[in-house]
Amino acid sequence: MNWLTNFVRPKIRALVSRTEAAENLWTKCPGCEHMLFHRDLEAALFVCASCGHHLRVSAKQRLAMLFDDGKYQRIELPRTPADPLRFRDKKRYSDRLKEAQAKTGESDAIVVAHGTLGGYPVVVAAFEFSFMGGSMGTAVGEALVAAAQLARLQQAPLIAVPASGGARMQEGILSLMQMPRSVIATTLLREAGLPYIVVLTDPTTGGVSASFAMVADIAIAESGAVIGFAGQRVIEETIRETLPEGFQRAEYLLEHGMVDMVVRRKELRPTLARILGLLLRREPSAEVLSLPRAADAADAANPAGTAPSIARPAPSAE
Ligand SMILES: [Zn+2]
Repeated sequence: MNWLTNFVRPKIRALVSRTEAAENLWTKCPGCEHMLFHRDLEAALFVCASCGHHLRVSAKQRLAMLFDDGKYQRIELPRTPADPLRFRDKKRYSDRLKEAQAKTGESDAIVVAHGTLGGYPVVVAAFEFSFMGGSMGTAVGEALVAAAQLARLQQAPLIAVPASGGARMQEGILSLMQMPRSVIATTLLREAGLPYIVVLTDPTTGGVSASFAMVADIAIAESGAVIGFAGQRVIEETIRETLPEGFQRAEYLLEHGMVDMVVRRKELRPTLARILGLLLRREPSAEVLSLPRAADAADAANPAGTAPSIARPAPSAE
């Protein structure tokens, strides 16, 4: 029997794990159904090379692509009661939580970290969509408050990156209360005169889109992201009308004035760095030279007094 356990079993294990690994090497694009090689996909920031579809990314991947050199410090999030209503549908809510924690390695559907972006200190609160659909319960609400407090403490802007189906129904009214709480959290930043930027990613819906995600100073949407309150099918069934093409997509929201800009993932980091530079840099980008007054310039350049000269242009910033 010994040779079975010592020799055969490891061989079989190795065989099984190898096929698993081979399957993980390829991802099917949800947009065009092309098979994408994982290394190419990672290098392209999880954007399909053939159709440009932006695939969903985890909170960790999001933080790595935002911070300088992918380096950041996570903060420990406040502890909250795990299952305040002792809710149960097909499964206990506490069991669902444990499953999601085991699957994602996160304590809840959000990660808060600080570091620098383009050299500027920032606090980023990124949602983990694979944790119960990125739904917002008390833990997420607490984390957003903690993120706003940290930003104020560090005198740094807050960047929120939602990816969420909305409020977490297993927490009932307590999850709905996180909508006003998260909005109040963002007022901490306004009072401190710090920028609050939101990057709306696919999907930003329900209670999240109806709260902190829509009150930012600057609202950026990732290309192709679904952003809305109720789902398209629900709206169509309620109003009994067919909705226009591209409804609830980032580009549609831009056309209708709901977001400030739509940015491709590759451009997200440079765009954020530029915005932070514009908002945070107090000193001018180049030495300020005072232009000579018109009368002095005319006298100096043209003592004979025939024609006024034009002052030379100030040196440009770059
Ligand atoms: Zn594709």
